Parts: sequence; C-alpha cells; structure tokens
Amino acid sequence: MTENSAQKGYYGPWGGAFIPEVLHQTFAELNLAYEKARADESFWQEYVRLMGNYSCRPTPLTYAENLSNHFGGARIFIKREDLNHTGAHKANNVMGQGLLVKRMGKKRVIAETGAGQHGVATATMAARFGFACTIYMGEEDVARQRPNVFWMEQLGAKVVPVTDGSKTLKDAINEAFRDWVARMDDTHYVLGTVCGPHPFPEMVAWFQSIIGQEARSQILEQHGAMPAAVYACVGGGSNAMGIFQGFTNESGVDLVGVEAGGKGIHTDQHASRMTGSRAAAGVAQGYKTMFLQDEDGQMLDTHSIAAGLDYVGISPILARLGDSGRVRFEAATDDEVIAALQLTMRSEGIIPALESAHAFVQAFKDAPKMNRHDAIIINMSGRGDKDIFTIAHAFDDPSWKRFIIGRGDEYRNSMLASQKAKD
Ligand SMILES: *Cc1c(COP(=O)(O)O)cnc(C)c1O
Repeated sequence: MTENSAQKGYYGPWGGAFIPEVLHQTFAELNLAYEKARADESFWQEYVRLMGNYSCRPTPLTYAENLSNHFGGARIFIKREDLNHTGAHKANNVMGQGLLVKRMGKKRVIAETGAGQHGVATATMAARFGFACTIYMGEEDVARQRPNVFWMEQLGAKVVPVTDGSKTLKDAINEAFRDWVARMDDTHYVLGTVCGPHPFPEMVAWFQSIIGQEARSQILEQHGAMPAAVYACVGGGSNAMGIFQGFTNESGVDLVGVEAGGKGIHTDQHASRMTGSRAAAGVAQGYKTMFLQDEDGQMLDTHSIAAGLDYVGISPILARLGDSGRVRFEAATDDEVIAALQLTMRSEGIIPALESAHAFVQAFKDAPKMNRHDAIIINMSGRGDKDIFTIAHAFDDPSWKRFIIGRGDEYRNSMLASQKAKD
C-alpha cells in the first residue's frame, strides 16, 4: 500500500482528485450529496423504482442455448443491458446522477461526449427531470456522429462543437470543465464513466452496481451456482465495474475485462491500456491512471472499431483490480469483433453493440475449455442498432452502399430543385 491508498478516492496509487482550486467547494458539495444519498436507503429504492419504470430494469439474464451448444463447453448467459432505455448501460449512470442533481437543487447539467451515446443519454435524463442541458463535443465528432447530434438537439439539449486541439473527446472534456468553473452554482457535470476526479469513479460504479446485483441473483436462480467467469468490455470501465461488483468477493469467479485491440495490440492502432505496451502512469483529466501516451507524456491517438472503447484512460478502480490480479485483462481485435458479432446475430437473434462484442470474443475463446457444469456471463453493455453504418461498412454490403448513395442523390436533387425555383 502506498501512502495515498488510505486517502479517499485512491485505489492503490490510482485515482485522486486533481482539480482546480476554484472547484474545491463544488466537489465538497458533490461529495456530501453523494455520501448522504449512499447512506440513505430510500435514495437507492427511488433509483431502482425509477429504472424499473423508465428503463426496463431488471434487465433479463438470457441463456444463450444455441451459442452454448455451438461451443460445447460452458453454459453461456448474456446480461441484457441493451434493453435499457437508449440502448445501453449508460442510462443507469445518467438517471442516478439526475436524481442526485435534483437533490442538490441544481437546474442545469453539462456533459462531454465522444461518439455521442453519453450525450444522448444525458439529454434524455435532462428532458425527463426538466434540467437545461449543454453537451460538449469535439467538432470532428459532431461531423462524424450526426444521428446522435440530431437526437440530442431534438431532446432539447444544446450541442457545442469544440474547435480546440484535436477537436475530439479530450478537448470536449477540457471545455466541459471550463464551463463548470464558470457556472458551478447552478450546474452539475454528468461524467460518463468510472473515471475522472473522486467521487466520480466511486459514484458511477455505485449506480452501475445495479447490473451486478441483478446478475448475481439471476445466475443463482437460473444456474444454481456462481459463474466460472464474467466478461465485460472496458472503455472507461463503467459497465465492467457494474457487473463485476456482483462477484468481486467470490474468489472463484474469473473477472475478465476486454479492451479494444483495434488492428492488434502490437500496432499503434488500439486502445489497450492494460494489455498493450503503450500505456504509462500519468495524471490527466483530474485523476491518475494508466494513459496511452508517448515518452513525453503526450496522449496518443487511439483506435477501435467501437467508438465507446476509444479512450486514452481507464478507471482507477479497474487499474487497481488489474494490478492485484483480481481482474484479468484481455484484448479483442476489430476483426475478431466482427466475427463474434456475426455469430451472435445468426445464433441467437441478438445484435450486440460493437463495444459489447469485445466481451463476446474472449468468452468464445474460453467457453470451449470449460464444461456444462460451468456457467459464464457476458455483459452485453448495449445494442448494435446504433452501429449500422460501421457494421454494414465492415461487411462491405453492396446494397447498403447503393442505399446510402441513393439517399445522397435524393437530397442533392431536392436541394438543386429548390435552388432552381428560387433563381
Ligand atoms: C459507452 C459504451 C461502452 C464503454 O463505456 P464503459 O464505461 O467502459 O462501460 C461500452 N459499451 C457500450 C454499448 C457503450 O455505449
């Protein structure tokens, strides 16, 4: 144990709260509100009620009989976070923070988003609770993720394109912190994963622990014993922390976190902080963890076929669990992800998100080595409908291309026609 690990918000050497002086008071208020909520059983009951009412909880644990037969080893169960409102586990976090914001009496929320999924989830929450909402997004990401930007705006959020730096997620994070400093009296920053300064990693992990609580009792009911292993993909780490918490105290359960192997962890196109060789300890974005960076501490560009796993840092809690050996880290490549996705669709009629499909890859490697007395759980963090552009492109589907080109032509023609009418 290092000296720091006795302090709040540290996990071994990782974590902490590296924040500007002006935000100390805001963080003190947030810590107090969070700790009060956590000590108050009625808060959790209200949260569970809300998620049951608004987001299909408890989500099912589906026995994947066809996949189990296909591999002939362990019984494969899938935790269906895809059935949440907005299609992923992100709803758990934003709705939990929404309840807390209501308690704190604040009226405005801000968030940063890369691929746009957290932005959409935050915008739905803000609409539901009646909060004003501003979403910061790199200009590049605004251009690439038009469908999500469209929905955020329709849901009443203001989307601000960030033009600094690389015009992507890390620049959006800086801009969100700047906004918070300027408007901390009435504003809460809804951080999207189990990263950032304390109390965010601990607080987001708490809201996501609802996944593990449910999965634990569901597997006991359906399988009659603890699972041999639990698999989750790891971007920032929130869906993994969510399901792992149901099993961390069961030493016989192998907890497996799967990172984005991209084009391969020996290339420079991946986002593997724990399995790759390009990560080092660093402090950025308000916390200390393993960041993908070069020798000078410059953050590296990351790559994954799954936008939600494309992130330079990793949860300080997971970094600690990796160090201690409690969580085993693996990586899945883009090609392996596409193959696992195809097999799952054809076998079970289930479409995992590209992020979630990373967990399926490793589960499929391990399942054949086990036997029918073993059960494994794959946390399916989200549904794949959102990925239609990427998946159709990866499958090189000719009819899809014709469809996109046709749509483009339609818009071009109607724009030309209305231009002519004006001339
Ligand atoms: C955002 C997202 C992730 C990655 O985030 P974590 O914090 O690592 O869970 C994974 N899966 C889906 C479907 C997502 O939308």
